Amino acid sequence: MQKQQIIITGANGQLGTELTSALRLRYGAERIIATDIRQPVRTDLHFRLLDVMDREALRSLVADTGATTIYHLAAFLSASGEQYPQQAWDLNMQGLLNVLEVARETGCRVFWPSSIAVFGAHVPRTACPQNTVTQPSTVYGISKVAGENWCNYYHHIYGVDVRSIRYPGLISHTALPGGGTTDYAVDIFHHAARGEDYTCFLDAGTTLPMMYMPDAVAGTIQLMEAPADTIKVRTSYNFAAFSFNPEQLATAIQQHLPEFSWQSRPDFRQRIADSWPAEIDDRCARSDWGWKPRHQFEDMVREMLAALTARLRK
Ligand code: NAD
Repeated sequence: MQKQQIIITGANGQLGTELTSALRLRYGAERIIATDIRQPVRTDLHFRLLDVMDREALRSLVADTGATTIYHLAAFLSASGEQYPQQAWDLNMQGLLNVLEVARETGCRVFWPSSIAVFGAHVPRTACPQNTVTQPSTVYGISKVAGENWCNYYHHIYGVDVRSIRYPGLISHTALPGGGTTDYAVDIFHHAARGEDYTCFLDAGTTLPMMYMPDAVAGTIQLMEAPADTIKVRTSYNFAAFSFNPEQLATAIQQHLPEFSWQSRPDFRQRIADSWPAEIDDRCARSDWGWKPRHQFEDMVREMLAALTARLRK
């Protein structure tokens, strides 16, 4: 395995928290530098405050640490992006361009997440293909489409080894989600584990693609470890595990906690969810670099409830 020195931006977020732990286990804690604009809760990390809008600070950090790879996670998400569209565009675009420019200068490899938000209402709702219309209806989606094209450009024009995945909604019990349209699928577990009712901000029948965080983290590392010549898509790979709607999730929770009750009261996020596909065709990721999810829907529900109820008992 290649000796790596890794910088993670946005490391305190929902994905960063778990990816940081996994990368520390895989490559050694001393090789992982977690960064964010907020101080972390954990005190055992090699941590540096870093605003990704500050290109010079990023350049210095790469030089000081001899970084070989940047996992660039800092971003505005879909729902918060609709509330702060200008700031979302600024952070999502300028942050990425700063990372790509520093990578071009230093030869760092880059991981950058895209999202199922790149698709708009004009794509097939089921088995949404790798290559299709990308006409998103959110600022977040627009920034991800533009970001994918910038990644492709930096790879083909400057030779930057940048790799990307279009994550579905990510479900985890370690860190709370940060303002996305699929956040309900995490919030509902917290309410159920505490014995509380839940009011879902999406309609009961809104089916969206989702993934349990351990699979998202494993797939990300798998993509980054794949030989460069197997990575045929330099925009971003479709990436899928399972799909469900709020009704199906609540019913699965009630199989463990029969007294759990919930209702649906859609808000502005319904419009965003309605513009996304329900199922993703990820055959390119499977055939190019061997992607295969390990957790099924039922495994995820069982593990989420077990982890959250165990934490409440402590
Ligand atoms: P999050 O909101 O939980 O975390 C983002 C982190 O970035 C936060 O810790 C925040 O403090 C930090 N940050 C904000 N502004 C910053 C700045 N200027 N400089 C440095 N750090 C800054 O997000 P997440 O869910 O962990 O998402 C990570 C990435 O994955 C994002 O690119 C997101 O678009 C993508 N993604 C996430 C999901 C999901 O379901 N969580 C789905 C699709 C794509």
